[in-house]
Amino acid sequence: MESAAGPAAVLGGGPAGITAGYLLAKQSRPSVLFEADDVVGGLARTVVRDGYRFDLGGHRFFTKSHEVEALWREVLGAELLTRPRLSRIRWRGRFIEYPLQAGDVVRKLGPLELARCSGSYAAASLRRRREAESFEDWVTARFGRRLFELFFRTYTEKVWGVPTGELRAEWAAQRIRDLSFGRAARAAMLGDGGGVRSLIEEFLYPRLGPGQMWDTMLAELVRMGGEARLGTPVTRLTHAGGRITSVGTADGAALEPGPVISSLPLGAVVEMLDPAPPSHVLQAARGLRYRDFLTVALVIRGEDPFPDTWIYVHDPEVRVGRIQNFRAWSPWMVPHRERSCVGLEYFCFEGDELWSSPDEDLIERATAELARIGLATGDRVERGWVVRVPKAYPIYDSAYGARVAAIRNWLERLGNLQQVGRNGLHRYNNSDHSMLTAIRAVENASAGTSHDIWAVNTDSVYHEEDVADEHPYREAPRTPASAQGAAAR
Ligand SMILES: Cc1cc2nc3c(=O)[nH]c(=O)nc-3n(C[C@H](O)[C@H](O)[C@H](O)COP(=O)(O)OP(=O)(O)OC[C@H]3O[C@@H](n4cnc5c(N)ncnc54)[C@H](O)[C@@H]3O)c2cc1C
Repeated sequence: MESAAGPAAVLGGGPAGITAGYLLAKQSRPSVLFEADDVVGGLARTVVRDGYRFDLGGHRFFTKSHEVEALWREVLGAELLTRPRLSRIRWRGRFIEYPLQAGDVVRKLGPLELARCSGSYAAASLRRRREAESFEDWVTARFGRRLFELFFRTYTEKVWGVPTGELRAEWAAQRIRDLSFGRAARAAMLGDGGGVRSLIEEFLYPRLGPGQMWDTMLAELVRMGGEARLGTPVTRLTHAGGRITSVGTADGAALEPGPVISSLPLGAVVEMLDPAPPSHVLQAARGLRYRDFLTVALVIRGEDPFPDTWIYVHDPEVRVGRIQNFRAWSPWMVPHRERSCVGLEYFCFEGDELWSSPDEDLIERATAELARIGLATGDRVERGWVVRVPKAYPIYDSAYGARVAAIRNWLERLGNLQQVGRNGLHRYNNSDHSMLTAIRAVENASAGTSHDIWAVNTDSVYHEEDVADEHPYREAPRTPASAQGAAAR
């Protein structure tokens, strides 16, 4: 990439931005990091309230990238713990082991339900489908309608907020193929009993939560001579002659940057450009969509209400999708032995009825739902906090590919700008991917390499059917051949 004399500007202080700032400082390269929030970490931050520490949604540290893992260990050393995972599905008042075990599923279904599921599965096996367009078609064709209704519909719709008939089949093929749920369901139906693959049973986790990683990187960045301006939103990106010439912030200040490494949402970057890009680029930016999210952390008197790190809640009578137990992530997250802290995760759209509810109502709802599914009675809840998280999940709808391409094509004419990270690339990623894109962007800026940031891939999709970890929206219409291929995989 083009190099220039001014300090490097790093936009955003989530995992991507803080990694870029840290590495630039380590190379003694002058840089300024701008973060809108008062803390670093972005979606992966740890919130601290009255000594209680909680993630927005529990953040496992897992990567196939040796570079990223080495960086985690360099920053935190022995503070990076290896933690056991225990997670179950709450379904019809019962707990089902997760990852699924065939014997457990069979037992929990009971003989009557098992017979119904078997009949429905057999009927689906006999019916030949030429292609499955939607998630619902795909799952129903493989496991029968009964199992689909019991296990797949509610949670998937909670997470994505649209009917499963509108979610794309490839997503199901990608997530459920070869996975334990599929094998367990088949095992339950066919009695073959075995073959359930072992999933991620342990993960790395900072002793004080993910925020400890980003806070330590921030402290090191400053110690090594880098500059970080927290509470300083970037508001304007002036450009001329094919480069960003000024980074303007809400406080009225402006910086003349050398390289610019931006983890800001693609759409936001386009809107900040001065002069504005052509209308088709602006339209593409305004069309990008997100699923938003809020978490209600509750402090509960007495022992932990459950031993799991987290529970998936499939029961349709409550809106909560997942519940985290932060002491199980790390005992240091909870400051009192006689209190526990759980996080109830609600998937929503910014501005919808859930998102707009007052905090007290959300705390009341979370308290009632916790009691309703039998985890803790309301009188045990001492207090709670609500954190709303806009743009938590970039949505891959039928138009997003063309929109991202239009924006990318136009931004590529700005020689000193590199987009990195999750919303920076509109990529449904994990934090290791964000960090790797930042590592490559710093190499481009400092070592003259020309890595294609858009092509960076950590291949670290968790191999489990955690519907919150993938992007199920239906893509543009496909040819029958490709659709068949996807369904057959
Ligand atoms: C519920 C949930 C659970 C997850 N679980 C995991 C997990 O278990 N493991 C895992 O590895 N990943 C997980 N992820 C994904 C992980 O959170 C992201 O991959 C990661 O946070 C992306 O980092 P980023 O720096 O690219 O973006 P972000 O985290 O979004 O950071 C962007 C930063 O830019 C700042 N910003 C925005 N606008 C401006 C502006 N105008 N000026 C200045 N700053 C601005 C924001 O405040 C933010 O700090 C999860 C995500 C969610 C939502």
